[in-house]
Parts: sequence; structure tokens; C-alpha cells
Amino acid sequence: MADFKNEFSWSKSRAEKFNKCLRSYYLHYYGSWGGWDWEAKPEHKEIYVMKNLQSIPLWVGSIVHETVEWLTKLAATRDPVPIDQALDRLRKNMDMDWWTSESGNFRDQPNKMVGLMEHYYGEPIDQETFETAVTQSQDCIQNLYQNSVYQQFAGNQNLKILATEPYDSMNMNGLKVWAVPDVVTWDGTNLHLIDWKTGKAMGGDEINFQLSIYTAYCSIKWEVLFEKITASEVNLFLNQVKTRTFTVEDIQETKQAISVSASKMLDMLVDPENNIAREDDFPMTEILNFCGYCNFKRACGREQN
Ligand code: SF4
Repeated sequence: MADFKNEFSWSKSRAEKFNKCLRSYYLHYYGSWGGWDWEAKPEHKEIYVMKNLQSIPLWVGSIVHETVEWLTKLAATRDPVPIDQALDRLRKNMDMDWWTSESGNFRDQPNKMVGLMEHYYGEPIDQETFETAVTQSQDCIQNLYQNSVYQQFAGNQNLKILATEPYDSMNMNGLKVWAVPDVVTWDGTNLHLIDWKTGKAMGGDEINFQLSIYTAYCSIKWEVLFEKITASEVNLFLNQVKTRTFTVEDIQETKQAISVSASKMLDMLVDPENNIAREDDFPMTEILNFCGYCNFKRACGREQN
């Protein structure tokens, strides 16, 4: 069984799961823990497989992000990759993902290979659905090439790329808070963080909350004042850029919201100090609409709903 500890930490996506369905939250962060171990019980391994399933929109988002990260790193060091080459690579990766998902091979490494919910649950899914996903992903990459934010990277000796998708966290009064901006750049005076989006636009409050978390992280990580940090939401699907800055007061408000959210999560634990949860303390949601899109509907018995 796993020999490292399941430590409590906070992230925006964790808070979203907590607010949607407590049972789903429990299964994701506690029930699936250790399910990667070959000695784990079969039902435990299965929950781990379910945890790693992706919906088609989520898959489109991850494959576009992976492609953009690859292009961004290359743009900083050499001539831009021709668009046909980028689209071809994207298509090949999507073909491979579809095959690993449809064949069930993703079960060998569910955290590294793509397993789609539709394949796992035997839901109707045809070639046209796949082609639509490819088209949407390729449209995002085509929009990227036209995007002024991305165009600044290519051959720009004055712009330093500090990080691309750093899987990192910050410490907020003893609480570990995850923050993963997609790209962070420095022009010698100002820091610019970028969050790529690949689907419909988020609400104003939600995107402000996310970008303010990234701003707080960048300020700590690179020791830059808030007023020297700009944050851009670049929606590659809608081809829109929205840029904003945050004040000390904004960041204080964000920290307070995170602290309240984390306290609610910790209050549900049977042993908060050791981050131990009991399944019965995490009831299933009464909003059945959530269940149709949930990874864990087989685990909690709502697969037929
Ligand atoms: S299927 Fe519904 S009740 Fe079950 S874990 Fe998912 S959201 Fe919660």
C-alpha cells in the first residue's frame, strides 16, 4: 500500500468538488487514495480508475494545454513551429488517446493515459463526436497562432518565460494552496501570468478568483509586488483576451475566502490533524443532474440515474 501520506491541501478545483457533491469529493480525495498500488483491493483500484476518467470537454482542454505548453517552450528557444506541424501532432495525440480509451488500455496507467467517461460507462459515442473534439482542439491551436499574447513569445529576447504550468503550491498561514498558472513571463519590469481557456467563458467572479490566486502565488514565488503583475485569461475557443490586475485588498479577500473554504472541508473530517475522512460523513448530492456527469456514479450506485 502507499507509503506516503495523504496530506490536506486546498485548490480551487477541490473547493468546486466539495460544493457539488460531498460523496464525489470523498471518493476523489480519500476513497481513491492508494488505489494505484498493485496490492490495493480491486474495488479500491476501480475507484482510482474512476477518479482519473475525463469527460470529452476536459480531454479537449488537457490536450490543447499540452500542445500550447509544447509550443510555448519551443517559441522561447527557436523559430515558431509551422502550424501544420502543430495540428498534425495534435491529431496524432488525439488518435492515440482515443485508442487507449476505447480499447480499455488506459486501465494499465489510469493517471497517465486517457480514459473517457463515455467509453468507461458504455455510453453511445461515435466517430463524429471524436471528429468534433478534434476540430474544436485544432480551432483553439489556430486561434493561438493569431493571438497577440502568444505572438509576443516568438523570438522575443526581452521576454523571459519563468514557468509553464508549474505544478506548485504556496503556503497561506500554514495551509498548502495549489496554484498552476499556464505561463508566467517577465519583461524586466513586469510579470505577466496567462491562463489559457478552451471552452465557454467562466463567470466574472470565478475567473477573478482564479487569477487572484495565481497573482498571490506569483508574488510570493518571484517576490514581485501585486501592482507589477498582470493576469490574462486567454480564451482560445472564443478568441478573447481579458487582462486585469489585483490590489492588496483583492488578494486579502481571496485569502479569506480560501481560509473559510478550507475550514469547512476540515470540519467534515473525523481526524483533521491526520486528514482522515469517513465515507458515511459525506452524503450523496440530492441534485441528480450532477450525477450524469460524475466519474463516480458506478461507485455510489447512481449509474442508472
Ligand atoms: S453520482 Fe451523484 S451522488 Fe454519486 S458521487 Fe457522483 S454526484 Fe455524488
